[in-house]
Amino acid sequence: LLELNHVEKSFENLSVLKDISISIGEGEIVSIIGPSGSGKSTLLRCATMLEKMDGGEIVYLGKKAAWTDKDGHVVYADKKDMKEIRSQYGLVFQNFNLFPHYSVLKNIVDAPIHVQKRDKETVYQEARELLKKMGLADKEDYYPCQLSGGQCQRVAIARALALNPKILFFDEPTSALDPELTAEVLKVIRSLADLNIAMVIVTHEMAFARDISHRVIFMEGGVIVEEGTPEKVFASDNERMRSFLGRYG
Ligand code: ATP
Ligand code: MG
Repeated sequence: LLELNHVEKSFENLSVLKDISISIGEGEIVSIIGPSGSGKSTLLRCATMLEKMDGGEIVYLGKKAAWTDKDGHVVYADKKDMKEIRSQYGLVFQNFNLFPHYSVLKNIVDAPIHVQKRDKETVYQEARELLKKMGLADKEDYYPCQLSGGQCQRVAIARALALNPKILFFDEPTSALDPELTAEVLKVIRSLADLNIAMVIVTHEMAFARDISHRVIFMEGGVIVEEGTPEKVFASDNERMRSFLGRYG
């Protein structure tokens, strides 16, 4: 579904991603864990093309989104291909990024109607079903400022799902929330596991990562230190992994 090959990224002379290769299969749930500053967000931003990488290759569904030419320059796919590629994935951030001046319902239907040009009736119907699934059926006319952080995050998840993505990226979806709201958002993310949408989740919630993931990736200093099943990674005797778990686990 998604392949990242030899991705490199630096800021000034700070090398943040060093030769990162990851592949994500259909419906696969992968958690990315690691200390602050290890490059997790940068990796998601490069994978979703919010950030330009300096080297490597990105392939979605067999279609190249970006590659490195023979002179070592990174080339991105043209506008038309990129539009198709972008429609394959959705993103959920720490800070929700909802449109404050749109109602909950409008936040969800806006992109499917105006970007994907899908049928209005169908989109509204699906959006209401999604809100129901998120436990927000009675909130469609609310504005984001009238919701709790946990409710906002569930709207953000509904908005991402409304685009029918094959893969969803989450960057610390609960780190702005208190424990009670965190639990409610994690429950919603768990409920998506049956939808056969691949999920890549950057999180500091170790119990959650261990529980939900097919595969866990531990990053530190811009490299993948450990990767494998949760059982394997959390039992790893790698020194850096142990010291990280000592702090967060
Ligand atoms: P956290 O767990 O705190 O979110 P992270 O693993 O997501 O950390 P990144 O945000 O990817 O880490 O940052 C990796 C490194 O890249 C950090 O040293 C950070 O300071 C640096 N960095 C990230 N974005 C930029 C930027 N736009 N300009 C310069 N440096 C940056
Ligand atoms: Mg981050």
